[in-house]
Amino acid sequence: MPQNARRSRISGFHRMSQRERLEQVAAFAGLEPALVEHLANTGNLDAALADRLIENVVGTMNVPLGIATNMRIDGEDVLIPMATEESSVVAAVCNAGRQCYETGGFTTGLSGTLMIAQIQTVGVADPHAARLRILDRREEVKAVCDGCDPVLLGLGGGFRDLEVRVLDTAGGPMLITHLIVDTRDAMGANAVNSMAEALAPHIAGWTGGRVYLRILSNLADRRLARAHAVWSLDRLAVEGMTGAQVRDGIISACHFAAADPYRAATHNKGIMNGISAVVLATGNDTRAVEAGAHAYAARGGSYGSLTRFEIAADGSLGGSIELPMAVGLIGGATRLHPTAQACLKILGVTSAARLARIIAAVGLAQNFSALKALATTGIQKGHMALHAQNIAMMAGAVGGEIERVAHLLVERGTVRMDVAQGLLRDLRG
Ligand code: NAD
Repeated sequence: MPQNARRSRISGFHRMSQRERLEQVAAFAGLEPALVEHLANTGNLDAALADRLIENVVGTMNVPLGIATNMRIDGEDVLIPMATEESSVVAAVCNAGRQCYETGGFTTGLSGTLMIAQIQTVGVADPHAARLRILDRREEVKAVCDGCDPVLLGLGGGFRDLEVRVLDTAGGPMLITHLIVDTRDAMGANAVNSMAEALAPHIAGWTGGRVYLRILSNLADRRLARAHAVWSLDRLAVEGMTGAQVRDGIISACHFAAADPYRAATHNKGIMNGISAVVLATGNDTRAVEAGAHAYAARGGSYGSLTRFEIAADGSLGGSIELPMAVGLIGGATRLHPTAQACLKILGVTSAARLARIIAAVGLAQNFSALKALATTGIQKGHMALHAQNIAMMAGAVGGEIERVAHLLVERGTVRMDVAQGLLRDLRG
């Protein structure tokens, strides 16, 4: 079929079966039968369930699920499932956990399980007076919110607080109402969005304005997860550097990230390597947690580090992390996805609070390992062994060839595709 005859307007695509959709896509993209069969195999996620989770499903995208060992969190040993396609991420958590295991591992905390829903009201003639009119109706607001979710109320959750701000914007003053809701073991997006929508007509009536947006804020700063750990100097020492030198290098790296958004973006990306992997493994919303983390990192007006490292009283290295952690055990894909359920069982968590705290510890662990590598031998040394295997596979190596080609690539210090292809040709004679 000529390129310009391909049409993305496919009538009734959403009503088709997975197989019918796949055939349409195969015809559009010229997929070979082997690729079509590959996509048709949804692995350990039932095709019917996949079809209910999102729209227009044609297949599933599998990513590896690894287990981080050595993690001790609040005095309890935990095995941590991590879903990621990136090499070295799981190993980084294992290494950080091992190096602080004897000093007690990680201690964690959580500020609460409160989510914020926002209601935007525009065109209010007297925004400051209207603000007070809303605040005066706190009990009515509470009744409307709690009326939306008797299940949540029964579990001890529901409306907690009310905030109203007059926001100066390019479009004039806006009245922004915040509903603060305890969503317990749910991430809570649907729960608080329903409350915001139910309250909107009341807000419009009380203010005389027009309500537009009614949705949660992903800057979940009433749901801050925290973790702390201490690494002793003898654990920090590496060949050619004392523990104190490594400690000071890690602290300096953290100061760099705190002062420079270019560095902070990469620093925090590393933290999210660990965090997003656990969020994904447990069927939670990676984008929600990432948006919250980055917004929190910029809360002071400039974008900085999510972690802090400092010299502890005894001269060891102390590390801390604090970030919003809107994750749940109920709702979204968590309850429905069998792999997410298995991962929660491996973690042994029975509350969203515990899950959030574990995830914060993973973020700190990831950051410690990344900064230690960066401040000492550099990141590439550790990366290279796994990266070389990927390059070997891309060059066409299979089975035992992968290990042999990767080994030769690392030995030569040139982990490149063309070199891998040459080595593979030599190997195959
Ligand atoms: P949900 O609505 O599916 O489940 C939450 C509900 O489960 C509660 O309202 C409550 O009625 C009930 N429930 C049962 N047991 C509970 C318990 N122990 N604790 C708390 N509630 C309990 O899920 P949700 O958490 O409200 O929404 C999460 C989903 O919303 C995610 O899939 C997310 O991707 C999506 N989402 C996110 C955004 C965003 O982040 N901006 C926006 C819209 C939707």
